[in-house]
Amino acid sequence: MDLPQRASVVIVGGGIVGCSLAYHLTLRGCTDVVLLERKQLTCGTTWHAAGLVGQLRATYNLTRLAQYTTNLYASLEQETGQATGFRQTGSIAIATHAARLEELKRGASMAKCFGLEVQTLGPSEIAALWPGVNVSDVVGGVYLAARRRTLLHRHRAHGRSAF
Ligand SMILES: Cc1cc2nc3c(=O)[nH]c(=O)nc-3n(C[C@H](O)[C@H](O)[C@H](O)COP(=O)(O)OP(=O)(O)OC[C@H]3O[C@@H](n4cnc5c(N)ncnc54)[C@H](O)[C@@H]3O)c2cc1C
Repeated sequence: MDLPQRASVVIVGGGIVGCSLAYHLTLRGCTDVVLLERKQLTCGTTWHAAGLVGQLRATYNLTRLAQYTTNLYASLEQETGQATGFRQTGSIAIATHAARLEELKRGASMAKCFGLEVQTLGPSEIAALWPGVNVSDVVGGVYLAARRRTLLHRHRAHGRSAF
């Protein structure tokens, strides 16, 4: 395989972070990006990921980033013509102690600011929503519906190379 002799940006590592970096650089007009992967794209930790795209985050910027990511995954197939398997099912995050519940509630209130549909639930409500769960030690949780109110518009990317 012939590697380019020069490139404006060389990214080492073709996991989700390297691929995302290459995607976003080219999206912003950097047409000379080379991504180097020692084995196979996404063969590292990314290969092991369960594919969950969490939405509840502790800070404003992380919540914004999570929402951006969800919008991006939802529109990648349309943009690239390649199916990603991304499905939005909604999710329940559960807490088995008060401190974790507090953390979830903070994330939920942050998520609400971004238009996400979030509900705080008690153990019996969680059991009603997901009958398979054992709520004997659950103190509460947060339900995040799949519906969102924003859509992201992006331009097509050009000039990516992966080796
Ligand atoms: C079991 C498990 C489940 C997970 N589930 C989720 C989940 O559901 N949702 C979620 O958001 N996160 C999940 N994660 C976390 C997520 O997988 C990682 O945060 C993410 O994949 C890290 O991506 P990365 O690009 O930083 O690293 P990696 O995917 O490890 O990519 C690094 C790449 O660099 C390459 N590389 C290394 N050295 C060189 C070199 N010298 N030259 C060229 N290439 C090199 C490697 O081969 C590799 O492909 C999970 C993690 C694990 C382990």
